[in-house]
Amino acid sequence: MNWDLMSYFSGFDSPDVAQFKASLESEIAGLQSRCAQITPIGADTAGSWEEIFLEVEVVWQRMSHLGSYLGCLTAADSANEAYKAAEAAFATVSAEAETLEVDLKRGLREASDADFSAFAQRPALAECGHYLSRLREEAQRTMSPEEERLAAALGVDGISAWGRLYSTLSGKLEFDMVYPDGRREKLPMSQRRSLMANPDRAVRRAAFEGGNAAWAQVEDVAAAAINAIAGTRLTLNERRGVDHFLDVALFQASTTRRSLDAMFEAIFDSLELPRRILRLKAQAMKTTGVSWYDLEAPLPGLGDNEEVIDWPRAQETVQTAFSRSYPRLGSFVQSVCDRNWIDWEPRANKRPGAFCTGSLLTRESRIFMTYNGTMGDVRTLAHEAGHAFHSYILKDMRAYGHFYPMTLAESASTFGEMILTEGILADSAVGAADKLSALDSATAQAAVFLMDIPMRYEFEKAFHEERSDGEVEVSRLEELMTQTQRRIFGDVLDEGGEDPYFWASKLHFYITGVTFYNFPYTFGFLLSRGLFAEFKERGSGFLPHYEEFLRLSGSATSEQLARRILGCDLESPEFWKSAIETLRQPVERLETLLLHRLEPDGVGGDEVEG
Ligand SMILES: [Zn+2]
Repeated sequence: MNWDLMSYFSGFDSPDVAQFKASLESEIAGLQSRCAQITPIGADTAGSWEEIFLEVEVVWQRMSHLGSYLGCLTAADSANEAYKAAEAAFATVSAEAETLEVDLKRGLREASDADFSAFAQRPALAECGHYLSRLREEAQRTMSPEEERLAAALGVDGISAWGRLYSTLSGKLEFDMVYPDGRREKLPMSQRRSLMANPDRAVRRAAFEGGNAAWAQVEDVAAAAINAIAGTRLTLNERRGVDHFLDVALFQASTTRRSLDAMFEAIFDSLELPRRILRLKAQAMKTTGVSWYDLEAPLPGLGDNEEVIDWPRAQETVQTAFSRSYPRLGSFVQSVCDRNWIDWEPRANKRPGAFCTGSLLTRESRIFMTYNGTMGDVRTLAHEAGHAFHSYILKDMRAYGHFYPMTLAESASTFGEMILTEGILADSAVGAADKLSALDSATAQAAVFLMDIPMRYEFEKAFHEERSDGEVEVSRLEELMTQTQRRIFGDVLDEGGEDPYFWASKLHFYITGVTFYNFPYTFGFLLSRGLFAEFKERGSGFLPHYEEFLRLSGSATSEQLARRILGCDLESPEFWKSAIETLRQPVERLETLLLHRLEPDGVGGDEVEG
């Protein structure tokens, strides 16, 4: 492993890990029995509840420390059985710790408004008003503590078992890959995605068709899982008094239905802009439109002469780009690299994907990724560094101020990516090919956020509506999926270019802990474009405000933060429209660069783009 994990524990086999876990377990058990003996928050119990809340806060810090450590180990070496066993044992501890939340909610739920507000104003609970109000709000939509405990216990063999079944199914599923030269190979489904990003269209199509043939073999299992997961949620919502299935997702995202609707109204009014990005791709491929398997492909010709960017140069590229416009971010990344906080090298048994994790005890972060030398990987580094910087800005906040939603987390990471793109485009030392590649990946990503993700949201919403009336058949799932794709992508998606099995192949629909694992990405992406536009207009004077935005991300709603930092109203489509508009310039620049791409020195170095 490349990263230094010594600040977590001296080693996995050291006695500190076992001791830490044992004392955590006894703290949780002690808190559980104390909670069971105390009546809801009132004048006479407020002091005891305050102690409980402060101790639970420490439990969360310690949980994040151990959880992050084990997450790092299993990601870096997924074949290690001892790590796997430790992670499974930790899941049991997590489930116990989560029952503490049922108790805290009971304390808050039955408190009178006056008792609650007196409680939230106690000095020891300063700066957790937002956390407490949210927990109380959630407490209003719960069943009795006994029913909640039963639901949690049954969930292990119910909703989460369906999620695990899906993971096992997709993990073991193989498909027949028939290469353009006739060579055949059986491949695990995990390799399909990179084949569908291959510069050769015939390879992409073969992976797409072979993969879907495999999904067709297990369509009934996937349909049973997606129906059971949604069905469980709908039943629990009804029992908990949740009016609409989106309310849970909105609560998790810390935003309002009005903001969400305003965002989608703006997106659906502006679909022509992201469609133009795909039109350009079709034009470059000399086809009438794109097919589903073209969405992740680089522009033709771009992958051919792309040189491998070695790891030292990747770090330097990110640092230089960051330091150019945001010195504090640049020096932060420098220290992340110097302190060996990144596990980057490609190795056998590493988990796919990238993430940033951290400990609320040490207030340090770690970045996990697999660096293969492409511009996309450099971008991943900037993305994860944006997440790590978010935690760094939050480091002096109490633990209860760290529970920020995915919407705001993704704003911080995308902000990092935008600074990278701008830095590359403004750097005269960067060649035309790299600039084109940076613009291609930035605009391709915008097309994902403005069409692919909204498509997933629209599908999931329509599916939940139909699921309220009973199970949805395989044929209907396919139909709903292709219809939604056609509606969002329009004529830029070739006739027959849809992916009818996307509901089965996309893991995000089967994540049981988070519902609607889609729109927060687009929300964060557009919000960060709004922040970035403000940064460009106001210059470095805006950066302290940006840092305040990050610092308060766990202490206010998205609407409150946008109003305070940007003076914007997220509930109005105007904000979202102007955020989408900021893409026009990079799209036009890509069009121009593509026209001149045969002239290697034809790109000026002083223009600045987002
Ligand atoms: Zn992210």
